[in-house]
Amino acid sequence: MHKAFTDSLFPTMVVGSLPRPRWLRDLVEDRKAGRVSHERADALMDDAIPSAIRMQERAGLDFVSDGEWRRESYVKVFADAVDGFQNDLIEGSPGRTSSLKYPAVVSPLQPRRPIAAGEAAFLRRRASAKTIVAIPSPYTIGRRMWSPECSTRAYPTREEFMDACIPIVREEAQRLAALGIDAIQIDDPWLALLVDPDFRKRDGVANLDREIELSARCVNQVADGVEGVPVSVHFCHAHFDRRHGTTGPYDVIMDALHEMRVERFAMEFATPDAGGIEVLKRFPDDKALGLGVIDHTDPRVETPEEVAARAEAAMSFVPKERITLNPDCGFAPSSVNPMDLDEAYLKLKAMCEGAKLLRDRRG
Ligand SMILES: [Zn+2]
Repeated sequence: MHKAFTDSLFPTMVVGSLPRPRWLRDLVEDRKAGRVSHERADALMDDAIPSAIRMQERAGLDFVSDGEWRRESYVKVFADAVDGFQNDLIEGSPGRTSSLKYPAVVSPLQPRRPIAAGEAAFLRRRASAKTIVAIPSPYTIGRRMWSPECSTRAYPTREEFMDACIPIVREEAQRLAALGIDAIQIDDPWLALLVDPDFRKRDGVANLDREIELSARCVNQVADGVEGVPVSVHFCHAHFDRRHGTTGPYDVIMDALHEMRVERFAMEFATPDAGGIEVLKRFPDDKALGLGVIDHTDPRVETPEEVAARAEAAMSFVPKERITLNPDCGFAPSSVNPMDLDEAYLKLKAMCEGAKLLRDRRG
């Protein structure tokens, strides 16, 4: 396992996003509508984000993020930094109603500014704990922000668009490594959406193997350029308003994990929608597992004992030295997701206390 994860057993980390206070959700809306300048919004975020960092440190986390509070969404952050998109052309998330629409690519990509390096540099300056920063996978960007109606003049196929995203995301990962970020995460929820047959039907996925192979190729072409920092991949069933967009065990994508040249996979396991942990018998034996032990769709706060029990169950399949702990997903991957910040704090604290229990019992 990468040395970044071996300071203690069961290192704890976030997946990325944290719920925002209402005034910050309003600020994101005001910035998007042009009622507040980007400079003013940035200055206000600079004041607010240190509290998100301290909250995670007080909860006891080993790796913290900036809560992704500056981002309208985990994937749209790409379109906010790269020219070539037009806003609000693609409907919200699959399988549920959401007020968030997505941009579509309409002309050739032209990077305008770094995607995450600015927020990462701020996090690095302000955090005492280790830092983790997420960037979206080219596969998920391609699935989310290319459409046959709007995008073919810029990129005739979705795959060509993904290919154009790869060097931009890779360069961003290299920037994060150069900044001294302790862990980089590639967010690829659309890989896990493929596990749900209903989703595949709804979304017109004709060739499942081809999609899985594309996701793995995108991850590898980003990760191969990154030196000195462990790269994780996070995938999940997508959620909004405490409901998952898809359900089902990971069986059909487990082989892809063996193909991906990264150090760690952060996966949902706390939710029953993920179909149980037996699938971990096919988990690669040279990777770290980011075990989801907190169900962000359940408002009830887990106890430290429950967290420990979830990790102990996973230890039947993956040795303790390769287990890291995280919530199933980010708490609010888009700014419109209504979640409670205090609840997130209590859940993260329970996770860290669960890690302490495990270290006492198994250390
Ligand atoms: Zn997720």
